[in-house]
Amino acid sequence: MIRRVWLERLARAALLACVVALFGALWFALTGPPRPAQVIALAPAPLQTIIPTLIALPTATPPATPTPLPPLVALLAGHSCGEDPGAICPDGLREVDITTEVAQRAKQMLNARGFRVDILAEFDPRLNAAKRDYSPRAFLAIHADSCIYNVSGYKVARAANSASPQEDDRLARCVRSSYGAATQLPFHEDSITTAMTLYHNLMKIAPKSPGAIIELGFLGSDKVILTTQREQLALGIANGVERFLQASQCQ
Ligand SMILES: [Zn+2]
Repeated sequence: MIRRVWLERLARAALLACVVALFGALWFALTGPPRPAQVIALAPAPLQTIIPTLIALPTATPPATPTPLPPLVALLAGHSCGEDPGAICPDGLREVDITTEVAQRAKQMLNARGFRVDILAEFDPRLNAAKRDYSPRAFLAIHADSCIYNVSGYKVARAANSASPQEDDRLARCVRSSYGAATQLPFHEDSITTAMTLYHNLMKIAPKSPGAIIELGFLGSDKVILTTQREQLALGIANGVERFLQASQCQ
């Protein structure tokens, strides 16, 4: 009797297991295996997507770099602030009055174009032959020639013993071409003397600073333009210096 009861229980359990297995098979047939997209969605994010996320995290703001100062130009007004006014004409026209005004006008033009400009005196305390520690980006000494009437024109030269002859020559070329274009004066190369190429202030600026000297014209023959068109003289200088600072070769 007991054996029969257990046999019946076993038969019912087997029947129930068969029904469950049947329903499981039916469910699998209807829904199918998990699709690949679902598997990928559950998988951890690949390393390539994690790294950019880490890099994009906010970082500390870098310290602000100071804005560099504009280039410094030095214009030396020949004979200014000294006892020697330079060349003088019988009518009282003085070289120093021309060089001082032209230097000031050129400074205003270069300031307006964004450059820093120092106006230097003939014997300026910033220029020291022993130290040579004054180092503008461009140095130009402004003079005018003697009160004679048989020659006309302007001259530009650099130091004979220049430490940087290529840059000095480029500065001289830029000033020469721009000044000639602005004034229409002829270039009087023949009268460039050691008074220009051995000019004392060219040997007082820093050796690496490009430097040159210009003679604006002759106080005698070029009197009209030297006295009535100083804006044009200054414009020629400002244009030449600016072209030099813009790295023009000024061929
Ligand atoms: Zn002079």
